[in-house]
Amino acid sequence: MKTLKAELVFTGTELLLGQIVNTNAQYLSKELAAIGIDVYYHVTVGDNLARLVSTIRQAQGRSDLVIVGGGLGPTEDDLSREALAEALGVPLEEDPEVMAVLRQFFERRGYPMPENNRKQALVPREGMILPNPIGTAPGLLLEHEGKTFVLLPGPPREFRLMVSEQLLPYLVKVNRGQDAVIRSRVLKIIGVGESMLEERVKDLLGSANPTLAPTAKPGEVHLRITAKAPGVPEADALIAELESKLRERLARNIYGVDQETLEGVVGGLLVKKGLTLGAAESCTGGLLAHRLTNIPGSSAYFKLGVVAYDNRWKVNILRVDEELLSRFGAVSPEVASAMATGIRLIAGTDLGVGITGIAGPGGATPEKPVGLVYLALDFQGKVKIRRELFMGQRVEVKERSAQSALTLLWRFLSGDLE
Ligand code: ATP
Ligand code: MG
Repeated sequence: MKTLKAELVFTGTELLLGQIVNTNAQYLSKELAAIGIDVYYHVTVGDNLARLVSTIRQAQGRSDLVIVGGGLGPTEDDLSREALAEALGVPLEEDPEVMAVLRQFFERRGYPMPENNRKQALVPREGMILPNPIGTAPGLLLEHEGKTFVLLPGPPREFRLMVSEQLLPYLVKVNRGQDAVIRSRVLKIIGVGESMLEERVKDLLGSANPTLAPTAKPGEVHLRITAKAPGVPEADALIAELESKLRERLARNIYGVDQETLEGVVGGLLVKKGLTLGAAESCTGGLLAHRLTNIPGSSAYFKLGVVAYDNRWKVNILRVDEELLSRFGAVSPEVASAMATGIRLIAGTDLGVGITGIAGPGGATPEKPVGLVYLALDFQGKVKIRRELFMGQRVEVKERSAQSALTLLWRFLSGDLE
């Protein structure tokens, strides 16, 4: 299968200085992969004419499609048009239509066009204009000696809109030298660490098409399946075949796919079963409630969250027995369980979650190290308890604890807790 080789050039000294993150790179690479274009190089270069010219020449020598992001603004450090023209030896000409659009843009805002902006109407001879409905700089596309060159504005909103509305449709339509699509699907996995997971799918990791790649996230692992084929149905069939093999091995650990989130899936299950929930949190400081309420419509099932950080309030609000606190300590299975039951009774919900642990760096004892967390789930009076020992800094321990609480909920709601 022959595919188009693409090279992405990002301009901006602020990228090189680490002042902004190159989100345009990730977005564009993903979109190009999805239509079957292979991205071979990402190059980032500062706002310097000579270096930009040589970067474009280098790209011209080794790639079929060269996309430059940024540097289309009106100021002196915006050099992409000039650099492309110089690199390819193509003259720049003022385009009357672009000029009219520019003047109109400023008129609507009630002031005359600054002289600086004139250069935004410059177009390489034979170049095609990609209109920019939300900014001043139009994008440019030039077919030159069998290769495609594209200039896109840097601001991410403008960049994305131009890519999705104009560049991708153009590339799909032209489809030069390309006879493959790339499709991918992500399986989201909890309750099994990355190395254990790799062990279980080791024989499938070497597959060439589709490929299988694991990525570790806090408290979960994502397995991305990517297939290349002449058309979408063939690629999807390749993915489905590998997915079914993975599901045979990991069914009890796959909570969702692609854009799905654990809190979203848990919310969906609560709705489906008509169950309600309350959360009593200590070391997570409300992180579980935060994640649950990130889901639109969560008020249907999430009724009350309490952050009972001081023991006094575990007693006064959650009605945890003082005796339990003094005998077992705040970080104990007994207190986690009492917190879960307390919140369930106060909120009048079907389910109550209790979380108590030592996020660190202080607070540890020889028996109770940093990262020790107890979680409890009370369902109509029946309590499940889970003990965790997380590695990592304070914020990671909090995140892992909230993740673990959601995992406990997911397990319970998928009928997998006995
Ligand atoms: P402008 O008209 O705003 O000058 P431009 O096309 O000249 O647009 P740049 O000057 O390179 O683009 O970038 C404008 C702004 O867009 C930057 O300050 C930055 O905030 C953002 N930006 C540029 N490139 C990227 C990128 N690759 N990823 C994320 N943000 C970017
Ligand atoms: Mg600029």
